[in-house]
Amino acid sequence: MKVLVINCGSSSLKYRLIETETKEVICKGLCERIGIDGGHFKYEVTGSDRGFEKDVDLPDHNTAVDILIKAVTDPEHGVVADVSEIGAVGHRIVHGGDKFTGATLITPEVMSVIEECSDLAPLHNPANIQGIRSCRKVMPDTNMVGVFDTAFHQSIPEKAYLYGIPYEYYEKYGIRKFGFHGMSHEYVARETAAMLGKDIKEVKTIVCHLGNGASITAVNGGKSVDTSMGYTPLDGIIMGTRCGSLDPEIVHAMADDTGDSLEEVMKVLNFKSGLYGLSGNISSDMRDIEDAYAAGNEAAVRAFDTYIYTIVKYIGSYIAVLGGIDALTFTAGIGENSPTVRKHVCSYLKGLGVEIDSAANEQGRGGRCISTADSAFKVFTIPTDEEMSIALSTAEVVAKHNA
Ligand code: ADP
Repeated sequence: MKVLVINCGSSSLKYRLIETETKEVICKGLCERIGIDGGHFKYEVTGSDRGFEKDVDLPDHNTAVDILIKAVTDPEHGVVADVSEIGAVGHRIVHGGDKFTGATLITPEVMSVIEECSDLAPLHNPANIQGIRSCRKVMPDTNMVGVFDTAFHQSIPEKAYLYGIPYEYYEKYGIRKFGFHGMSHEYVARETAAMLGKDIKEVKTIVCHLGNGASITAVNGGKSVDTSMGYTPLDGIIMGTRCGSLDPEIVHAMADDTGDSLEEVMKVLNFKSGLYGLSGNISSDMRDIEDAYAAGNEAAVRAFDTYIYTIVKYIGSYIAVLGGIDALTFTAGIGENSPTVRKHVCSYLKGLGVEIDSAANEQGRGGRCISTADSAFKVFTIPTDEEMSIALSTAEVVAKHNA
């Protein structure tokens, strides 16, 4: 089935057309600066020079979807003769609250629930909803499926998703751990089982999704049992600009000490903390931190070492929760591309019998085993592919619906 994957932000729309049977990406692209001056449209056709890019006014998401559908069906540049060849549209939706445990066919009722979840992700869900509406306009008869960042983590048990605050905050206000990056963790856990040559139901693994935003998930038998991000994506390990877990009293202290409002403090924790803040504003980008670290810059060493330490703490606690693991997998921008980060994390795990094959670790991007044959458990790098994950889940939902 040809599935159009749509990942809609407030001013951008990323798309990819995927043939799910062969896992082939037919075309992909991006609409940038929607609703802002200087709109730009990019369209690439795999293995062909039929693609193009152009500056174009993109006053709203409807215009962006119109332009991408025109490109995809264009007699000269297109990849399908008619829009009806697109079997389904898979929409990435950031927050499904605790209402969705998997990808779901979008009905009017489902739309209302996604709208209700906007309170939990005010920056993301409204844009996702807009993307669905715009696609409906040009493809009124095509099945639309919502794939949620939070859904994979709905298998986390109560003891792991509750916080130690009065229970009524959960009952009345729904305050609990949700977890994010679900598509990535699910996809990478499946690929990890494939690399092990085992049925995913028999595999215990920890997936480290280390990007600018980052989370670590304990996966048992293909199900998420705990994850480092929480009620919001601010929780967990140190990230590019986000602080990760901290004592809640610190928020109070930061406001008192500086005279900043609560809102200003939250901005600092979201946008000025993490690698960026700890390094004294060198950068939120791991490549810059590594360069400065290699040059012996003390602030970069401090940021890097603290970052690695928070990762190791989560890995250690999840090994305990899972009662041992078969594999530890690194993915996303840093996880896939930084041998230095992987080396430092794994050097803490030597006491647990983990041994890294330095040559394999230093090799470039790609799915590979980076541990030695004697290692207590396998360590992998596996490229994540959230779009592929969305396309495959979408095709599954539509096939079930049509059966
Ligand atoms: P997000 O999707 O959360 O924006 P990505 O998964 O694209 O983030 O990851 C971005 C991060 O990956 C940045 O911190 C960047 O520095 C890091 N990164 C990319 N390539 C490398 C590399 N070769 N070495 C170290 N870090 C890298």
